[in-house]
Amino acid sequence: MLVVGSGLSGVHATYPLVEAGLRVAMIDGGLDANKRDGVEKAPRVIGAKSNALDILMKGSFAFNKTYELLSVKSNIEIIQTLAKGGLSEFWHGLSDFLTDDELVQAGLSPDQIKEEYKVVSKLVNLDTSPELDVHGKLLLKRSPHGVYRLPVTYPYRTSEVVNKLKHHRNFTYLPGQLVLTVKERNRMVEVGIRPIQPDSNPRQLLHGRTKSVRGKYVVLAAGAINTTRILLRSKNLYNHKTTFLTKNHSMIVCFHPQVFFKSGEKVLINPGQLGIISNDLGQKLGAFVQLYRANPFMLSSAVQYVPLPRPIATMLLSLFMPSLVIADVRFPAFETKNKFCQLRREKNGGDILEIAFRLTQKEVKTQRRELEVVSKTLRSIGLFPLKVVSDPVTSHYGGGVPIGGRGKLATDINGRLKKSKRIYVADSSTWRALPGKPLALTMMANASRIAKEVLKKLRK
Ligand SMILES: Cc1cc2nc3c(=O)[nH]c(=O)nc-3n(C[C@H](O)[C@H](O)[C@H](O)COP(=O)(O)OP(=O)(O)OC[C@H]3O[C@@H](n4cnc5c(N)ncnc54)[C@H](O)[C@@H]3O)c2cc1C
Repeated sequence: MLVVGSGLSGVHATYPLVEAGLRVAMIDGGLDANKRDGVEKAPRVIGAKSNALDILMKGSFAFNKTYELLSVKSNIEIIQTLAKGGLSEFWHGLSDFLTDDELVQAGLSPDQIKEEYKVVSKLVNLDTSPELDVHGKLLLKRSPHGVYRLPVTYPYRTSEVVNKLKHHRNFTYLPGQLVLTVKERNRMVEVGIRPIQPDSNPRQLLHGRTKSVRGKYVVLAAGAINTTRILLRSKNLYNHKTTFLTKNHSMIVCFHPQVFFKSGEKVLINPGQLGIISNDLGQKLGAFVQLYRANPFMLSSAVQYVPLPRPIATMLLSLFMPSLVIADVRFPAFETKNKFCQLRREKNGGDILEIAFRLTQKEVKTQRRELEVVSKTLRSIGLFPLKVVSDPVTSHYGGGVPIGGRGKLATDINGRLKKSKRIYVADSSTWRALPGKPLALTMMANASRIAKEVLKKLRK
């Protein structure tokens, strides 16, 4: 059994397979996220430079190599990594459970996912009532019904889970490999790979000799963007548009006066955060608001928004920063013609994934109205909205290989690729919508469910 990817989708697809006693090989980019190569400027990164990544990964070998090998051209920032453990090496461990409506919109079965929520919550030691900082405590006290505590799993690093899996004799980890293709042949699946060397470049990788690893089944969990890329290339679907999902979001910087006049509160390193769901507009999937205190590291970038000379702006911000709360408003994402990706051949013989993300007029209108509702809600719980910063990028991705999709790239409800018997997809590339909430827990639950579907098929 082959699993591609060591992110949270990959490891949660692997658990049930390893526990069932199957021999599992996990093929992965597997780069070390902490190794630095001294190159401060990333190579050709088109539409992929992000503040979050700048802070977390700038100059790291994994970051530079990822964008060299997984070329993207996009009108929005795209965050991807070939690091061992995937994107969850950098996440904050916050998650949430989705409602039945949200699961159905994503194309998932509520009964099955709810069953898997129990399994993965235990595995990741989910804390459903984490300690809150002073903002959290005051806001929760003031509005017990509208605002709720988000579950957290912290510290949780997927790379450590991979290390634990290595203790199982029937599990092998194959890092340092770039997966190019997956093909079914003679009752087997053949995964085309190239070793990643420090000096390997995209041209060599795509044109040198490909090695292959064979297994009875393959479970793809390379993250929504890269599972889609691998499948488009494998099926020779160049210039073929398929779905792409990410959430638009806006951040509302709020002043919390109650905290301004309170001092001497213990500073928590990783406090739990609060969530608010806004479905006042009568939609099944409303915007989701995540509330957290302003990070002092944001001071230097926040200064530019204050229309005062820099020294005065810095002084004022340092004074007010502890009383600022960020309301991160994330809008759900749905499939539309304006959001798609397609693989294009390049002149150098390689290929590049083009991503387009544009909101429809209707979406823009709805989101504007929702933002007004959210601002009202924030005022009602004692926050004063000061500034709205819009940024069409979140690191939550989906789409590409939609469940029940009518296009050439799609899976059935069990994650089995259309017209294939042995290729399964376990990550969010199969999702038909992305609810506004943090999605990691559901990605884990879904991956675990898909692996169990593969097991059912094997037992038959
Ligand atoms: C800074 C940050 C903070 C976040 N915070 C949160 C949060 O608080 N809550 C939340 O729910 N979500 C959060 N997220 C999002 C969350 O981390 C991702 O949704 C999740 O990690 C996706 O997991 P995945 O396993 O599907 O894909 P990924 O994490 O992208 O993993 C993909 C894996 O596949 C491998 N891979 C990819 N392509 C290839 C290839 N061609 N060949 C070989 N291997 C390949 C990679 O090496 C990697 O191991 C955050 C993300 C970031 C970046």
